[in-house]
Amino acid sequence: MEQMKRIALVAHDNRKKDIIEWAEWNYEILIHHRLISTGTTGKFIEEAIKKRLSSDAAKNFEITKLKSGPLGGDQQLGAMIAEGNIDLLIFLWDPMEPLPHDVDVKALLRISVLYNIPTACNRSTADFLISSSLLNAAYQPELKDYSRYISRIIRYES
Ligand code: PGA
Repeated sequence: MEQMKRIALVAHDNRKKDIIEWAEWNYEILIHHRLISTGTTGKFIEEAIKKRLSSDAAKNFEITKLKSGPLGGDQQLGAMIAEGNIDLLIFLWDPMEPLPHDVDVKALLRISVLYNIPTACNRSTADFLISSSLLNAAYQPELKDYSRYISRIIRYES
């Protein structure tokens, strides 16, 4: 990871207020990193941060907005993690309601663990992550060695 982090921000509808408040509180830190979001979360956070910036800074500030989560945004983020394009994930998922894309949510959480991506699923953990001294340092996450898995032998009859 470089000093400037690629931070993914996602929140389910019941948690959007939380992530917007959190982003407003931390905007002075966040604007120095690259921000990537699912569609609706990104739109709200971008608007909230722009309001706090001077008009010149607001013009240059942009969040990369993927598709909305239920329309594939979570899977896009998962693919970005697998390709090494996300450094941190702030994912405020809803612990109280089932959602149509629950399988995508599980997949995103799984892939973030697989690739050892620092992941916050609530505001307190997000606070700890954003105040970590590692946020502005180069950092190399340890990855498990899956070469034995990749080169495993599978027997099949043709
Ligand atoms: P949204 O998606 O930001 O487009 O609302 C979030 C999600 O439900 O994963």
